Amino acid sequence: MVPRGCRIRPLASGICCPMSRIAYVNGRYVLFRNAKVHVEDRGYQFADAVYEVCEVRGGRLVDERRHLDRLERSLGALRIRMPMTRQALGVVLREVVARNRISSGMVYLQIGRGVARRDPAFPGSGVAPSVVVTARSLNAARTDALAATGIAVVSVPDNRWGRVDIKTVGLLPNVLARQTAIDQGAREAWFVDKAGLVTEGASVNAWIVTRDGKLVTRHADHAILGGITRTVVLDAVKDRGLSLEERPFSLDEAYKAHEAFVTSATQIVMPVVRIDGRVIGDGKPGLVATALRLHYHRYAEAG
Ligand code: PLP
Repeated sequence: MVPRGCRIRPLASGICCPMSRIAYVNGRYVLFRNAKVHVEDRGYQFADAVYEVCEVRGGRLVDERRHLDRLERSLGALRIRMPMTRQALGVVLREVVARNRISSGMVYLQIGRGVARRDPAFPGSGVAPSVVVTARSLNAARTDALAATGIAVVSVPDNRWGRVDIKTVGLLPNVLARQTAIDQGAREAWFVDKAGLVTEGASVNAWIVTRDGKLVTRHADHAILGGITRTVVLDAVKDRGLSLEERPFSLDEAYKAHEAFVTSATQIVMPVVRIDGRVIGDGKPGLVATALRLHYHRYAEAG
């Protein structure tokens, strides 16, 4: 009998062996521990690469179509060519999920401009894009437990470049922002622009519910990543007839909000109960955020 959660795979012979993680790297499925990229991969040297993170639920990809649409937009913006057709990419994503036996988790896809002698200018057209896909399980019970209490966020200045709508792997400001949050006992950081307006979180989109019941999230322009979860939540909000404003909101407005929450593919809808140490609403996850979290997958596309 194989214990739950134990990564042991019974062989046909009946003998058990540890189950190995598998990654896809440039055309090959390889053992995770052997998965390697070249030292002159431009993703590694220049962050010249884009990525996607897609939720896996019941072993299936959630919102694959929207993720691949966004991937194509990111690649197009950077003039990196699609390394294979969307259909083929979908096959690789599903294969990595299946080979790693992911039921609840995420799949990560990174596509870069490829390997070439170090020079910032684009390499010649003969250089093939690099492709890496990994997948891992996420503990849904732990995320649900977090959602039941809500999370704390802290604000940090938004010091990112002007095209954060492109999902590049150039995430150093996000890395530093998340660590600032952790150092201050919070879980997420919200970026605030020079005008004092919240743009988004380090790895999430930011939302508030005002005291008169309006949902507010920043409009999708070059200053935020257009989250797939954000798009699905917008559909849910419209479908449920809730009052909505897509506009920037200030930190001060957020402090006074009735509710706050964040959205992302791995956290779905996560209530925020403290911002910069100030209690939001009654300090508990709000009704709107909780309902959106509960009903989210009715609006998402199952693979
Ligand atoms: N904003 C940023 C900066 C992110 O990194 C992410 C996710 O990685 C999001 C928003 C949420 O996007 P999605 O809902 O597609 O996961």
